[in-house]
Amino acid sequence: FMFVGQSGSHLTALLPHFVESRVSFNRIGEILDHEPEVSEPPNPAELPKSIRSIRMEQVTFGYTEESTQLSDVSLEIAAGSYVAFVGPSGSGKSTALQLLSRFYDPKQGAVSINDCDLRTVSEASLRQTSALVTQEAFLFNTTIRDNLLLDNTQATEADMVEAAKQANIHRMIESWPEGYDTPVYHEGGSLSGGERQRLSLARALLRNPRILLLDEVTSALDPVTEADINELIVRLRSRMTIVSVTHRLASAMNADHIYVFENGRIVESGTHQELLREHGLYFRLWEKQHGFHLSRDGLHATVDGE
Ligand code: ADP
Ligand code: MG
Repeated sequence: FMFVGQSGSHLTALLPHFVESRVSFNRIGEILDHEPEVSEPPNPAELPKSIRSIRMEQVTFGYTEESTQLSDVSLEIAAGSYVAFVGPSGSGKSTALQLLSRFYDPKQGAVSINDCDLRTVSEASLRQTSALVTQEAFLFNTTIRDNLLLDNTQATEADMVEAAKQANIHRMIESWPEGYDTPVYHEGGSLSGGERQRLSLARALLRNPRILLLDEVTSALDPVTEADINELIVRLRSRMTIVSVTHRLASAMNADHIYVFENGRIVESGTHQELLREHGLYFRLWEKQHGFHLSRDGLHATVDGE
């Protein structure tokens, strides 16, 4: 389900806006058919403007009754920090992000922000606080402007331009004859992967989230765009809490803290330097990625001398 920081009920409220904007009706149907997996609490709490910490406490989760995708996952993310989730494919990184966004509730344990269990928080408050950007940027067949304002109908033109500048897409948009009125076709298929990804980032930034959750946002991108987005993370990291799932260890190495996932568990955590010293899974993953690049250049793979 590839929609930036939205879920069913919130979308229903925006539906008239979508219809007005002549978006793809099939896709709306698809999104609205997505059964909400979680329910709104009876007396929902609002999250405060300022976030102190995000926590997962002994979280166990499975998509089905019988399966287990996360086992006893505990982690703490300090406000304003930049945290990376790394680990092999299928190890549960995206699942953990989805639980942080409360797309699902844990089977055991709890996910909380400022010690406030997400099950007690209003969905609107959570959507205001955190934004999830996934690899598959979802765009509607409407104008660039409508796509950007989708999540944030109150934003001004100036806010929109500012967000587009931050995501390094403003100049590109301005260079198009119709600018922000340029129509998007084929749900974004008329744009490059890098453009889609930047638009989806701009859309998330426009909401000025306290928490930005990024799921492999640089994976499908060319090296220039990847470098741009990594730079953006550096610029944003003091302003918001960033949790980034990435299999590119070069992006993770600058994180304040790295959690290494394997088979639904956190097997190691620490800074890049600490993890290299541990000579565990992170070290091996690093060696593998590093070794590949270095062997292409005919050099020896050296890892310790960072
Ligand atoms: P990662 O992001 O680390 O690659 P994921 O969190 O996507 O891993 O997946 C962890 C495990 O959960 C995998 O075995 C994957 O097949 C499974 N999984 C992911 N999404 C779903 C889903 N919606 N329903 C059932 N199983 C899923
Ligand atoms: Mg994933």
